[in-house]
Amino acid sequence: MSLGPAGVRAIIDKKRRGGTLERDEIDALVNGYVSCEIDDAPMAAWLMAVCLAGMTLDETAHLTRAMAMSGDTIDWAGAAGPIVDKHSTGGVGDAVTLVAVPLAAACGAKVAKLSGRALGHTGGTIDKLECIPGLRTELSIDEFKAQVMRVGCAIAAATARLAPADKKMYALRDRTATVASVPLIAASVLSKKVAGGAPAIVLDVKVGAGAFMRTLDEGRALAETMIAVGSRLDRRVRVLLTAMDEPLADSIGDALELEEALRTLEGTCNGRLADVAASVAGAMLQVAGLRGTCDPADALRSGAALRSFSEMVAAQNGRLADFDRRFSPSSEVRARADGYVERIDAGALGEIVARAKDTGFESDARRLGLRLAKRVGDAVSRGETLATCFGAVDPKRVAEAFVIGPHRAEPRPLILATL
Ligand code: URA
Repeated sequence: MSLGPAGVRAIIDKKRRGGTLERDEIDALVNGYVSCEIDDAPMAAWLMAVCLAGMTLDETAHLTRAMAMSGDTIDWAGAAGPIVDKHSTGGVGDAVTLVAVPLAAACGAKVAKLSGRALGHTGGTIDKLECIPGLRTELSIDEFKAQVMRVGCAIAAATARLAPADKKMYALRDRTATVASVPLIAASVLSKKVAGGAPAIVLDVKVGAGAFMRTLDEGRALAETMIAVGSRLDRRVRVLLTAMDEPLADSIGDALELEEALRTLEGTCNGRLADVAASVAGAMLQVAGLRGTCDPADALRSGAALRSFSEMVAAQNGRLADFDRRFSPSSEVRARADGYVERIDAGALGEIVARAKDTGFESDARRLGLRLAKRVGDAVSRGETLATCFGAVDPKRVAEAFVIGPHRAEPRPLILATL
């Protein structure tokens, strides 16, 4: 069904007034946008109407299906081994995929992962992986399937063929402040997962100041929506709600995060990233029916996950040995008082790094960012380094993201809930 300008206007208006859209209206809107009959302006208006008026579960499922079916979908029928996928709703210093995917593969899962680029203040797995010279993220379906079967894992981008509606809508949402919406996030995430074809999916819903879902209640609402929509589309979905008040890893910035993920896989960095990645990999094994066959923490310690990662990179033409792991600092951020780090605003730090990448002054925006030297709960003395900046990252603004005070914060759990 072709809508024409009046039909598009009527759908935007219906949603703006809080109405419920029919499946054929949503299909026509998504298909019209992908085929370029509908341009960015009306689509942006519709996205904003959804942000303000919301969507029912039925509408969210229709949107997810329309976006997933906007291109090719991968059929794993007859594949040997349990196919599983994972996705994060977006965080800061969130390189979990780079560790959890090879970790689950090292434990026997077949991980078919479609990833996205940076969105708003949050980083994107594809941007991080592309820091490896030569690495291809645009794989044909045949290449993707063959690699998953041979190596155990592949991480590929949504392309003009796989979930093209999400590729276009994701970029438009990033430009129009229409990211933080439960139905839009649910449809974006699940459409890629449905197109990727895995029957079992783990979703890492980030909650806190550095996430799109600020509170546990918002996180739960998104998790419950994705479980319900997933089940309507025949997917087994397991959700971990994980903390994102302060950045997860110490590094923020594409190449810096990749480097920390490599240290985690090499076993020289046993921090928060390793803990969340092991929990996510454990959930992936569970939802894939491999519970109890392998302990992800052992696979990390033994180097098996690093071998999986290296094989995946080589299969995608990446030259890991050519990734330059040395970074030259541009400035240090120092504490202005004695005390404890009471808060580090992950959202503010993500925004600072995203803005620095946008300035265009940096010859290689992928290598800029920052590294935290102190975490929430740490004691600091005046003049001590709180963080190191790389490239055009403004140290004054980074300092403002730290709250130093007299109270030592209690450590908060990283895994807030499992659904
Ligand atoms: N990740 C996605 O793929 N889509 C969103 O909308 C948010 C996070």
